[in-house]
Amino acid sequence: MSRKKDSRISFDIECCKGCGLCVLFCPQGNLRLSQKLNTQGNPYVELIDAAACNACGICFRMCPDVAIEIRGDSTAADVGQTSPQHKPSGKVSSDG
Ligand code: SF4
Ligand code: SF4
Repeated sequence: MSRKKDSRISFDIECCKGCGLCVLFCPQGNLRLSQKLNTQGNPYVELIDAAACNACGICFRMCPDVAIEIRGDSTAADVGQTSPQHKPSGKVSSDG
C-alpha cells in the first residue's frame, strides 16, 4: 500500500492521476502536484503544510479517483456547501 499520510488527510498516491482538481479547489491553497511520478507515470498530490489543512474535506469530495481520505472527527460528509460537486446524475441543484 502506498498511502501517504499527512495530518488528518491521507493520499493514495498510486490512485492519483494528477488531474489537479483537489489542488484547484483546496480553499487553503495547500495542495500541489509532485515533481515525481507514481508507478502509473502520473504526478501525485502532496500536502504543502500539514498545519494549514483544516480537514475540510473539499479535496476528498472533488477527487474522482477516491485517492484522498479524511480521518478524524472533521466530517467530510458535512462538506459540500462550499464547492461545486461532480454529481453522478449531472443534475445541478439550484433551489430558489
Ligand atoms: S482537507 Fe481542505 S484544507 Fe485540507 S488539503 Fe483538503 S481541501 Fe485543503
Ligand atoms: S483530485 Fe484525486 S486524482 Fe486528481 S490530483 Fe487530486 S488526488 Fe489526484
